[in-house]
Amino acid sequence: MILILNPDAGEESQEYKQLMAHLAAMPGIKTRVHVEHGTEQTLREIHLIGNTKALDIADMQGLPCVDRVVRVSQEYRILGRHKDDQRPTHFEYNGVRFGQDTLHVFAGLCAVDNREHVEKMMRALKENGQACTRMGAYKPRTSPYAFQGHGKNCLPYVFELAGKYGIKVIAMEITHESHMEEIAEALHMTGDPTGVMLQIGTRNTQNFELLKIVGRQTRMPVLLKRGFGITLDESLNAAEYLASEGNRNVVFCLRGMKTNMGDPHRNFVDFAHVPVVKRLTRMPVCVDPSHSVGSRAASSDGIMDMMHVTAQGVLAGANMVLVDFHPEPSQALVDGAQALLLKELPYFIEDVQIAREAYLKRVELRRQQS
Ligand code: PEP
Ligand code: MN
Repeated sequence: MILILNPDAGEESQEYKQLMAHLAAMPGIKTRVHVEHGTEQTLREIHLIGNTKALDIADMQGLPCVDRVVRVSQEYRILGRHKDDQRPTHFEYNGVRFGQDTLHVFAGLCAVDNREHVEKMMRALKENGQACTRMGAYKPRTSPYAFQGHGKNCLPYVFELAGKYGIKVIAMEITHESHMEEIAEALHMTGDPTGVMLQIGTRNTQNFELLKIVGRQTRMPVLLKRGFGITLDESLNAAEYLASEGNRNVVFCLRGMKTNMGDPHRNFVDFAHVPVVKRLTRMPVCVDPSHSVGSRAASSDGIMDMMHVTAQGVLAGANMVLVDFHPEPSQALVDGAQALLLKELPYFIEDVQIAREAYLKRVELRRQQS
């Protein structure tokens, strides 16, 4: 059970102390306080853990400071959607709103290779009205001999160029806690010209210690990739690890499942789960067509499979698209075969827009039926 307190319920107030004393006296119930500092107000939630079945909603509603009571109907207590749960399904970061009602394209380099390519990418994004990108500095690779990413050495120029071209949010994978500190330091050194959404890759979805450490910082939001060989429930629990440590600004990313059943695609595309994740949780949902499909193959209509699955995800209500582009795919150090070309960026954005408009029309049509 979650008690959502009045926005003005300060820790120092008599009512708050009364409430906490009352809860402490309840047998078999433990409390955990979650504080969320918003731009306008601080919201406090008290999570009651233990045998809460016997508690009466109306009684709890009557306690001092309590604004609303939510009975937790599933495991993901913080990020999940529960019955009569009015908690927000969006957050704001560096001036960009991420919600279950918005859509952002994060087109960019799978791996940063050099300054020239980063600049070409960022310039193209600006020319096409984009404020978000992806830039891989730390690359988890199958072979220990493969290029592992430039790491912290590339961060200063990546961030400076992002500032120069008005990029507000960069999705950047980290594979170790030290990367988080390197990113924070480079942002500080360059004068905070941009924002970073920390990406947890599919190989680390159940790296619980990493999740806990990343969840303990609340400055940067997190893009959590679904684990490629675990159930959806297990991946959603991984997201809950981040929130349980304090960071609930989490976007959940579908990126396909590892199985031969999806051949010839690199992974079995799982974008049918977009509405499922939006129903079960309050997280915005991202789709990654590049790592799902893994090639530029096109169907007889001339449209690349990557574009088809992107449209399918967006048509189903996806809130973010993470997609690999490269100015010179033949020179890319990672995943060149699945990169889209800079000249394809306007086409990609327009194709996504068509799917988005169709989705919004579908929502409106459904609204008229009810
Ligand atoms: C990536 O986005 O660069 C990546 C490695 O993705 P995933 O973790 O989904 O394989
Ligand atoms: Mn990649």
